[in-house]
Formats: sequence, structure tokens, C-alpha cells
Amino acid sequence: MRWSQFFIPTLREDPADAEVVSHKLLLRAGLVRQLGAGIYSYLPLAWRVMRRIERIIREEMDAIGGQEFLLPALNPREVWEESGRWAVMGDNMFRLKDRKGADLCLGMTHEEVFTSIARHELRSYKQLPQVWYQIQTKFRDEPRPKSGVLRVRQFIMKDAYSFDVDAAGLDKSFEDQKQAYVRIFTRCGLKFAIVEASSGAMGGSQSNEFMVKTDAGEDLIATCDKCGYAANLEKATSQLHVVIDEPSAGDAPAEFPTPGVRTIEDLINFPGGAVAERQIKTLVYVAKDETGEQRPVIALLRGDHQLHETKLADALAASEVRPAHPEEIRALLGASAGSLGGVTAKQSARASNQTLRVVADRALKGRTNMTTGANKDEHHLRGVDIERDIPVDLWTDLRTVQSGERCPNCEEGTLEVAKALEVGHIFKLGTKYSVSMGANVLDQNGKEVPVVMGSYGIGVERIMAAAIELRHDADGIVWTPAIAPFDVVVTVTNMKQAEMRDAGERLYADLQRAGLEVLLDDRDERAGVKFKDADLIGVPFRVTVGKKIADATVELFDRESKQSSDVKLDEVVERVRRLAPDAR
Ligand code: ATP
Ligand code: MG
Repeated sequence: MRWSQFFIPTLREDPADAEVVSHKLLLRAGLVRQLGAGIYSYLPLAWRVMRRIERIIREEMDAIGGQEFLLPALNPREVWEESGRWAVMGDNMFRLKDRKGADLCLGMTHEEVFTSIARHELRSYKQLPQVWYQIQTKFRDEPRPKSGVLRVRQFIMKDAYSFDVDAAGLDKSFEDQKQAYVRIFTRCGLKFAIVEASSGAMGGSQSNEFMVKTDAGEDLIATCDKCGYAANLEKATSQLHVVIDEPSAGDAPAEFPTPGVRTIEDLINFPGGAVAERQIKTLVYVAKDETGEQRPVIALLRGDHQLHETKLADALAASEVRPAHPEEIRALLGASAGSLGGVTAKQSARASNQTLRVVADRALKGRTNMTTGANKDEHHLRGVDIERDIPVDLWTDLRTVQSGERCPNCEEGTLEVAKALEVGHIFKLGTKYSVSMGANVLDQNGKEVPVVMGSYGIGVERIMAAAIELRHDADGIVWTPAIAPFDVVVTVTNMKQAEMRDAGERLYADLQRAGLEVLLDDRDERAGVKFKDADLIGVPFRVTVGKKIADATVELFDRESKQSSDVKLDEVVERVRRLAPDAR
């Protein structure tokens, strides 16, 4: 490509409305332009990068036996009704009607459509495993599209699905995908962590996310500095030091007035109160299940611990949880949020004809002589022995892990909580879709069994943007060679100088003939401008044709290290070819 004719609309200044680095640089380096909220056009430079990413993905999917499909983005309502997700997907799903009034949606993922093919065509275990994938546009009406292409409403995903006859088969398919993902992200130059993640209410037994640590991410992950333990905060646990309680004085909790006490902090400072570790925090939530039914629940935690809402939702198999409103709390427990407690909670709820579930965090197990609200404004109870006094329905992990806590795995390292960006997500679906949609095969014994499935997604834009977040400097993007839009830029410092121009043209032709993607900067610009632009768009190597051409010498500049070296004209092609990735 000749820069003089190639469309690279670079900007001199950082665009005002862009916050994260990748968004700024995608705009400044002329890769993308915004069309609407969460809707972007990919200009030629971006598309070249994305095509290289897609190629890496294809190679790795094909290497594990993946077969590429292309399914429609436009889906009829019926298949989504069959899985139950027409309702579950709620406002995130783009819905439309055709001219006859029939409901359609734009696919946000493709479990349903792939399963609808599998159920008609796969009949026997002999046809399994199958690994099917596509690289295709997805639509999601995200509540908060933001950060450039990191969270958009239309994006390109590689989604793969595995079909096996049993759980052991799924384990293998899952592991194959995991290893393929490791290779994909490594080849794309990303540093990443594989974390345990919540599988959500949509079922599935195991789920791993591929996370890139960056402040541009919206997730939080906990990682151990010693053993490599890594988990999404929605799943992470930690080793706590043991709290030794004094035994309670009496055989029942004792109520005491606490005028003005509304918070854990207030009760710490109240005479006769308790330190946070000795308090029980009581939070009232409303959990919505898949059918849309809403039910109240209270979550109990140690006073100094924070609830993780996803953990609560997962424990209840709820599709959504939200904090109860003050009126709901009063109607349920007869008190306001500062004086709530588990001891009389079920009774109070029953009195108002509601059933209440009580979920307690494991860190409270066996604790005695605790203090908590009395479900009576400005009154608390002391001497609470949890297992004696509170009817807990479910003990589970609800607590949000904090930086500095002990690793639950090696019990030696310290956990660090950091922001991260999800670039890929793999999970074991099990038989959720095969059962609801009737995808069965005959197993080795001639028995009809539901197909065991897995689902595996990667965001193409996310890889591109994550690569920029991780690899940039004050001058612009620093592409890793494997996904760079060009392998090399040949910069002719002065196009009016015949010797330089001719050498540039010859190098351009020779490098292309060697199989490289070459950008020839043949613009009638000052050398300084050309260097700045080349740095901004981040081509990994620059061959500068300048005055030294008189000695048949050019300069080879490495974008990442910013080192230049003189290279003889007849050695350039070989040098650059060695630097370019083996993929080509
Ligand atoms: P997130 O938690 O970030 O919303 P998700 O859990 O909804 O992601 P999946 O449904 O697992 O994501 O989709 C697979 C991959 O698609 C993600 O790992 C991510 O790389 C990409 N992806 C998902 N949503 C978006 C989006 N709105 N914009 C760009 N890429 C996305
Ligand atoms: Mg999402």
C-alpha cells in the first residue's frame, strides 16, 4: 500500500470524549470512527489488524478440529423461546418484527441456533465429538456501551460450541479450547490470566475467563503472587485468620437500645457496641428467578466484610438480585436498614405473609456472642450464637475478597485485586440446551442421551483494544508483529530526491515479493511528520530511506525498542523477513 493513497485519517490531538488509551489511539491513529452509541466503523487499518487476529483464531480453532460455519445474525423468536432465553435476555436483546408481524432478534450468542442444527443432524455417539465455530457479528443492547470498542453494541465474536456424548468428552473438548485460547492470546501478544469465573444462572459447571490486567477493564480479579491462583472477584475466596469468640453469657440473645446507631461503624463506637468482626451485617435483597418471580432474601456477613452480589445470585440460582427498597425492608422486617438482624427475620416475614430465605457467609460459621440488629428501630441484640439463634437456609461464600488477604490455594501468597478486561470466556454448558431443545444422540449402549455441550467465546475487537492498552507509549501504538496492520513501513524521507524515491520503490517491491505486508510512505511530507505518523500507527519496523542511500545504506528502526541500525540495501529484505512472524 502507498500511504499517499491509503486511507489513514490520523488526528493531531487526543479526542476529547475518549477516556481509555485504546479508544484515544484507535481514533487518533485512524483505525475507527464512531457512528452511534456503541457502534463503530472499522477503517482499513483496523480491519487489517482484525483480519490478522481472525486468522490466528482460525488457525488455532482448525488445529483442534474446529469446523467453521456462518450462522445468521437474524434469528426467529421460536428457537430462543425453546431455550427460555427470549425472556431471560431481557433488554440486552435487540428485537424486531418482520413485515408479517413475526418476532425476530439479532443474535447475541448462538447456542440456540447451533443446537437447532445439532438436534436434527447428530444421531449417534459415532458422529461425536463435533467442534463447530464461526467468526461473526453479535448484537447486544448493552446498558452502558463505553470505552471505545471495548464494550460495543455490535461486535465480532469467535464463538465455538462442542458436542460430546458424555462429561468426559466435554472435559477433553474444554481442555482443547483452553489450550487453543492460550495459543491465540499468546500469539496476539497479550499477557493474560486464566481465572475461575461464575457460570451465572445459565447453568454450566465450570467456566474460565481469559483476563488482561488493565485499568480499562470493567472486571476485578484476584491473583496470588506466589502460586498463580487467579479468580474473578465474583468467585475468588481467601484464607481468613480465625476469630476467637468469647462464649455468650446467656442462652438467648439480649436486646439493648442503640439510639442513633444506623451503621456498623456507629455500633463500633457505641458504648457497649462491638468491633466490626463481632457484628453480623444483615442485607436485604430481592432475587428474581428465571420465570421472573421475585422473592426476598437476607444475606448475613461479618460486619467488616462486603457482599459480592454475583455470589449471592449464584448461590440462589437467581437470574438477578437487587437491594430491597426501604419500603420493602420495613414491610418485611418491621424496621429500617440500620437495625436489621437474622434472629427474628423469618418470624417477621411470616407475620407479613412473606417467605424469606436466609443465606449466611461461611466466615460466620460457628461464631458466638455476636451483635446484630433486633428488627426494631434503634435496638440491637448481643450474645447471638449464630447457629443456635439464626435459622440459616444456606451457608455459602458471599464475601468480596480484598487485596492483601491470604491466598486460598497455597495459603502463603498474598492476593492482589486488580482491574481486568475479559477477552475470552469458555464454559461447560452441560446438557442445558440439549435438554431444553431436545438434542439427543444414541450412546455406546444404544441409549438415547442428551448431547453434552460447551461454549467458547472470544471478542475480536477486545483483542485489538487490549493489545493497544498493553502495548503503547507516548508516541502511539506498538503492535506486536503478528497482528500489526503492516509488517514494515518504508519511509522515503524526501520523495523529490530521485535516488531516494527509486530506492524506496525498489524496496517496496522487493519486500512485497518476499511475502510481506508493506506500507510505502511516499507522501510529500517532511521526514519528521512521516516518522511521527509511523510511530502513531505502530508498524513494528520502519525502513528509512535517507541520505545514506548514497552509500547503499538505509536505517532499520524498531518501533518497540526505538533503536535504529544501519543496514546495507541488499540485506534489508532478509533482515525484515526474519523479524516478521512465522505465521506468514
Ligand atoms: P462482559 O462480561 O464483558 O459483558 P460477557 O461475559 O458478556 O462479557 P461473553 O458472552 O462470554 O461475554 O462473550 C464472549 C466474548 O465476547 C467476551 O469474552 C468478550 O471478549 C466479547 N464481548 C462480549 N460482550 C462484548 C461487547 N459488548 N463488546 C465487545 N466485545 C464483547
Ligand atoms: Mg456481557
